[in-house]
Amino acid sequence: METAVDMGKGNFSFLEQVEKRSGEKLNLCYQCLKCTAGCPTASYMDIRPNSIIRLIQMGKKQEVLGSNAIWFCVYCQTCGTRCPNEIHIGVLMDALREMAMEEGVHPKEKNIHLFHEAFINSVKRGGRAHEVTMLMEYILRSRDMMKGSLIPGMKLFFKGKFPLLPSFVKGRDEIKRIFEKCTGDK
Ligand code: SF4
Ligand code: SF4
Repeated sequence: METAVDMGKGNFSFLEQVEKRSGEKLNLCYQCLKCTAGCPTASYMDIRPNSIIRLIQMGKKQEVLGSNAIWFCVYCQTCGTRCPNEIHIGVLMDALREMAMEEGVHPKEKNIHLFHEAFINSVKRGGRAHEVTMLMEYILRSRDMMKGSLIPGMKLFFKGKFPLLPSFVKGRDEIKRIFEKCTGDK
């Protein structure tokens, strides 16, 4: 069993670290399952959203940071609108992904973090995601040309659903500043 001292940075428990990072009050969760029942990607997750919270309360750092669940969250915010205690699991998952990357914890789902990074890089460049450049970056970095999950994306591209060239939002300087402030990127 992990203890506050084992897992902590300083004397903070894993729960305290995650609450501080995400700003979410996880001890308010009473496992009503409304979040998981409405989550569009819960069936793909190895640990369901409500159980992620339970494991954090129990201090199960490795299980949580090493899960594929934190990478399958698409930040749709459905859980936050359904939760009677206003816990926003999308925000929580974002904090957990950052922690996993900082601590070098590899997800069980191979290369899934590269897809996440390709998405973030795309938003960083143009202020919004551009599917084609995202896909190209992912394929180049993962070298996973034949992955079955890419086939639907390719079909959509050939049907003209994804524009070949990216379009950029106005105010890219502001986007750049937000990233600089959040990540220290230059
Ligand atoms: S909806 Fe809220 S209280 Fe209910 S299980 Fe999910 S996070 Fe916990
Ligand atoms: S924000 Fe994430 S965890 Fe919450 S419902 Fe959407 S996909 Fe599921």
